[in-house]
Amino acid sequence: MRTEYLSSAPSDLQRAADLLKAGELVAIPTETVYGLAADALNGEAVAAIFAAKGRPADNPLIVHIAAVSEWERLVSHIPPQALALAEAFWPGPLTMILPKTDLIPNEVSAGLSTVAVRMPSHPIARELIALSGCPLAAPSANRSGIPSPTEAKRVAEDMDGRIAAVVDGGTCDVGVESTVIDLSTTPPRLLRPGAVTVEMLTAVIGEIAVDDAVVQPLKSGRAAASPGMKYKHYAPKAKVILVKGDKNAFVDYVNAHAADGVAALCFDGEETGLCIPYFTYGARDDHAAQAHHVFEVLRRLDEQHVRIAYTACPSQDGVGLAVYNRLLRAAGFEVIVLE
Ligand code: AMP
Ligand code: MG
Repeated sequence: MRTEYLSSAPSDLQRAADLLKAGELVAIPTETVYGLAADALNGEAVAAIFAAKGRPADNPLIVHIAAVSEWERLVSHIPPQALALAEAFWPGPLTMILPKTDLIPNEVSAGLSTVAVRMPSHPIARELIALSGCPLAAPSANRSGIPSPTEAKRVAEDMDGRIAAVVDGGTCDVGVESTVIDLSTTPPRLLRPGAVTVEMLTAVIGEIAVDDAVVQPLKSGRAAASPGMKYKHYAPKAKVILVKGDKNAFVDYVNAHAADGVAALCFDGEETGLCIPYFTYGARDDHAAQAHHVFEVLRRLDEQHVRIAYTACPSQDGVGLAVYNRLLRAAGFEVIVLE
């Protein structure tokens, strides 16, 4: 298949919408990461997403809508807490899970009785939902298991020849996937951290539970509440090792492990004293910048043929929890604690 490369010009967006309507796969920009979109109500089109990504069939997809009114036919009941969260954070990087209606094909929900729904804020994503007239199922537009794409050229690296089109909307703002909260349980449960933080959610709906899998490996034998949070994910070919400690401890540790193919992934301004190649991914106290850069920097490790990347560990508050969650999985939970 020849992949078409489209811009955000009106005629190109119309072309992308026509492809989506016809059941084809189109990668689209969103404010979180690029999504690999298909008509969410067309089971065959959705099945093609799993094939193109090499995604395990037990990992359900998020359905993207452009207006709250579209939610009503996708879920069986919208509780007041869900409406309050929609009011506060939609359009934006928050996904809510509720019991699904029969309109949702099993391919989308991976056989679960619930469906995840999000209203993105990115103008191109919203325009494509409106133009195609379809809610769009869209997981991240990467081959399964590796870092999510935040630029169209990264989508092309993974998906060229496998999908109908890529719409280039520039670099994604947020840089990590949406926050996922399950509202089908009491109390509501955070399954995946993102730019809408635990603190922000709690301020609107009060107490929420944070699923163990957010910061721990899934216990063997236990079913994943969120199948996408399984052990290794978001991983480049390079071996990522998280290092917890202050700037000086990090520099000393990494320098002591200098070798061919070894690099450091550190915070902006903390590269002084490193005697090995380094990449920076945002200032220590700037979680939004870390989120914005983290996936791109992981992909650059492979471009530079890095074998081992000692990675400065972000703190777990605010958006830092989302960055920590992705890096933990990229590292297969390998963490060295220096203090
Ligand atoms: P991605 O599309 O790559 O952003 O991944 C979607 C995430 O949402 C994965 O972690 C899924 O496991 C999770 N997810 C989607 N639908 C559900 C659902 N019905 N129940 C639990 N988790 C879900
Ligand atoms: Mg993904």
